[in-house]
Amino acid sequence: LVSRKKQPKNTVIDLKGTPVGGGTQVMVAGPCSVESYDQLRTVAAALKQAGIKVMRGGAFKPRTSPYDFQGLGVEGLKMLKEVADEFGLVTISEIVHPDHMELAEQYIDVIQIGARNMQNFELLKAAGEAKIPVLLKRGIAATLEEFVHAAEYIVVKGNTKVMLIERGIRTYEKWTRNTLDISAVPLLKQETHLPVMVDISHSTGRKDILLPCAKAALAAGADGIMVEVHPDPQTALSDAAQQLDIPQFEQLWSGILHSGLFH
Ligand code: PEP
Ligand code: MN
Repeated sequence: LVSRKKQPKNTVIDLKGTPVGGGTQVMVAGPCSVESYDQLRTVAAALKQAGIKVMRGGAFKPRTSPYDFQGLGVEGLKMLKEVADEFGLVTISEIVHPDHMELAEQYIDVIQIGARNMQNFELLKAAGEAKIPVLLKRGIAATLEEFVHAAEYIVVKGNTKVMLIERGIRTYEKWTRNTLDISAVPLLKQETHLPVMVDISHSTGRKDILLPCAKAALAAGADGIMVEVHPDPQTALSDAAQQLDIPQFEQLWSGILHSGLFH
């Protein structure tokens, strides 16, 4: 169903007036984790100011270690709704349990399925029954074929509003957290009709090469970019090393706008 051969026309997903996949690109920014109302509101205000419409923020955090911050859970989803309503933003947040799809519909606009859950088939089926769009992240060691099959699990259940996002894969390279597979963008665009985005934060794990990576993604045909932004990254409860502070984000955003690659 997701194959370009089945449907030659691009799937365009409307995020409350922001189309994704129709030839214009979308910028998704926000903290790795929702940590507090004030933290989220500070980021939201900065995004609003910069003209960004879509905010990310994790409430259920699938952390590698069980001792790390696990997220605020439902409280975090409620904060996302409150802040998004205040600033007129669209929200994306990860859902990790099939039983939480209705909660997602109640409080957020887009369900993110994380890299670690790309092949959590019960979760994919549940997302396929949800009424809101799904942003599916590529698994840390998933082939593009496996990635596309995972998307098919969602679409076959009836939810056709699926966006794919390349977030880096694991290789032997250590200078980046993961290896940004830029070829995934044209290949996924060629093989499927779904919108394809690139997460420049998790793919690099760095702050100093985000502009060239964003430009590469856009030049390769990406429909959107995701980046992590935190008011005070040093104190962040997750992914402190890769999150931009607000001035750094504004500089990146200005660089992207001036590149002429963002339409
Ligand atoms: C995230 O976007 O917050 C996240 C956990 O990313 P990933 O699933 O790609 O590791
Ligand atoms: Mn993160």
